[in-house]
Amino acid sequence: MTKFKTIIEPFKIKAVEPIKFTTEEEREEILRKAGYNVFNIPAEDVIIDLLTDSGTNAMSSKQWAGIMDGDESYAGSRSFFRFEKVVKRITGFKHVIPVHQGRAAEKILFSIVAGPGKFIPNNTHFDTTRANIEFVGGTAVDLPIPEGVQPDVWHPFKGNMDVERLENFIKEKGPENIPLVMLTVTNNSNGGQPVSMKNIREVKEVCSKYGIPLFLDACRFAENAYFIKKREKGYENKSILEVVQEMFSYADGCTMSAKKDAFANIGGFLALNDDELAIKARNVLIVTEGFPTYGGLAGRDLEAIAQGLEEVIDENYLVYRIRSVEYLAEKLIERGIPVLIPPGGHAVYLDARRFAPHIPPEQFPGQSIVVELYRVGGIRGVEIGSVMFGRKDKETGKFIPHTMELVRLAIPRRVYTQSHIDYVVEVITEVYKNRDKLKGYRIVWEAPLLRHFTARFEPIE
Ligand SMILES: *Cc1c(COP(=O)(O)O)cnc(C)c1O
Repeated sequence: MTKFKTIIEPFKIKAVEPIKFTTEEEREEILRKAGYNVFNIPAEDVIIDLLTDSGTNAMSSKQWAGIMDGDESYAGSRSFFRFEKVVKRITGFKHVIPVHQGRAAEKILFSIVAGPGKFIPNNTHFDTTRANIEFVGGTAVDLPIPEGVQPDVWHPFKGNMDVERLENFIKEKGPENIPLVMLTVTNNSNGGQPVSMKNIREVKEVCSKYGIPLFLDACRFAENAYFIKKREKGYENKSILEVVQEMFSYADGCTMSAKKDAFANIGGFLALNDDELAIKARNVLIVTEGFPTYGGLAGRDLEAIAQGLEEVIDENYLVYRIRSVEYLAEKLIERGIPVLIPPGGHAVYLDARRFAPHIPPEQFPGQSIVVELYRVGGIRGVEIGSVMFGRKDKETGKFIPHTMELVRLAIPRRVYTQSHIDYVVEVITEVYKNRDKLKGYRIVWEAPLLRHFTARFEPIE
């Protein structure tokens, strides 16, 4: 960009939203009322909200203009055709089906192809992806590379799928029981880590050998493409659009949450090539979402998504985006705080096992850190560990921990500035200094599916 090393936000701010400040005593009371689950805390009472990068993006003035300009016609909306054109240019897929968010695309897809006796491999399933497969009786299988589950091992593409395990798995279960293979780019549940182009290509080769379609869970396709450009040989001189198009060229379809790499506050799509599958998908769409030219969205949302998709492949934006996440990780590492390395595209993950080694996984060390970050500094992160993915053995009832105990600090796109992040560093440093005093938690109430959203906890005294 320039000869200077300071990477600046590639935008100016023209609308602001005030932050409400709370005291530590107030937050203590808020936590108690929330059952020590930060999903139950009113957002107004959060100072810096790093719960998720989903739907929390700051939209551009052009996206807001699109909101005013959206065509709200029931059928054949102009905004749909703009949306469809942009999605087709980026993904190359023949059929574009708008939905209200990513999980609606998953629900449509898996209610058609998954079911009892069916297996869906992924590098690592996101929680809603897994839930939608299990909801229809299928089995979600994670096949990350070994480095992918070691938080302190550096690897440029920790999001990769283990191709050899994939092939063995297909042989073991039979290709007829595997309706599709998925690759999540970037691999959110595994630390927001990228998948290399080589890995996408190799996974596709295995899929083709057994006649299985490959789908991308494409929520963060642009962040993934930037990592490929930065870290994979042969891509340094390609444009982000070229990298993105090549990524999608190996896939037969994708699910997408526009709440991530489309800078929208709501929306998503299912895109695919297979004509028959598209007919079935549109049939479910009409019953559960809406008419095919709006899906679960208003015309204005389609307009905002189309504009956002054009903005997200701007390399100046991606340089700033990836660098600002890396900046937070770097500051924490300098202070000796254990984080997953390398930092992901959309979030920094604290390694709770090393942060609070005195708390065993069944007492949720990640949850303990999440609670403390809120109490001390009003920062809201999220546990991605045994609260989210821990299970009980069906026969013995024994606790099975998740492979990693992480605390995700997701960075909303274009929302916080460097001084917000410096404050976050200070708060985490304070919590880390007093880490010996962190307590374990037990669940006092939980729902049967996706329990982390609503569970209630109490500290173990
Ligand atoms: C967010 C997300 C989803 C689900 O999208 P929603 O819009 O939240 O329903 C699916 N997969 C991945 C990898 C995600 O990050």
